[in-house]
Amino acid sequence: MEEPGGCGSEAQRERVLSVEEWLRKWSAGATAFHKEHGHPLLQKHLDLLVDGRSGLRIFFPLCGKAVDMKWLADMGHSIVGVDVSEQALKEFFADQGLPYREEPVPGISGAKKLQSTSGNICLYCCSIYDLSSAIVGKFDGVWDRGALVAVNPCDRQRYVTLMSSLMEKNSSYLLVTVLYDPTKYNGPPFYVPESEVKSLFGNQCEIKCLQKVSDFSERHKQWGLDYFLEAVYLIKFVASLKSV
Ligand code: SAH
Repeated sequence: MEEPGGCGSEAQRERVLSVEEWLRKWSAGATAFHKEHGHPLLQKHLDLLVDGRSGLRIFFPLCGKAVDMKWLADMGHSIVGVDVSEQALKEFFADQGLPYREEPVPGISGAKKLQSTSGNICLYCCSIYDLSSAIVGKFDGVWDRGALVAVNPCDRQRYVTLMSSLMEKNSSYLLVTVLYDPTKYNGPPFYVPESEVKSLFGNQCEIKCLQKVSDFSERHKQWGLDYFLEAVYLIKFVASLKSV
């Protein structure tokens, strides 16, 4: 299913979406990517992410208003998310009926931190590229759905380098990518082949593809596609790998 030549997605390599385009999607309600009932692949593979541990710090990059953040917070985990859209983050707290407070973020001009009053969900309104471990700390787990695949293709390595710098030793990262014919639809979500997942994360991690599953729907048909798959990977940031 991958294109010849390995790293594929040549058709999309030059695609760039600006922050303004994302903000416009939110204000126009063009957010069909949002899943009202949470993501079935997170529900299915959560045990691998949590791995018997409790009270984890879990990061949702490019979080939108993902309802899974509340689901994991209710299990006792501490959630951090980031999105450029203040509307998305405010809709999250409103939809979930959660009171929150707002404060500026020292070190990132114009950024805001929206934190549930219970304290266990903290959402940053800024570009992910403004974050660092000095600001958000490090994480035991990541749920990356609609994140790597939403990043502009030219920024993928920068994104993965940043994400790696936010991972604790022995932490786990569940990644969902999408597979379709990129000559027929130009994204987002962008097509990310398995070979590219391996070249992006490969040096410092163990990577296992857990499942590939069809998510094909009427929406994808309208995009001109005749198949659309989600692939879920478990990426382990193993402490000692390649350290000698
Ligand atoms: N992960 C969510 C949202 C996916 S859509 C879900 O699965 O529902 C991608 C999201 O990324 C949008 O909400 C958009 O506002 C946000 N976004 C795009 N570029 C960003 C950036 N550089 N930093 C932070 N958020 C960004």
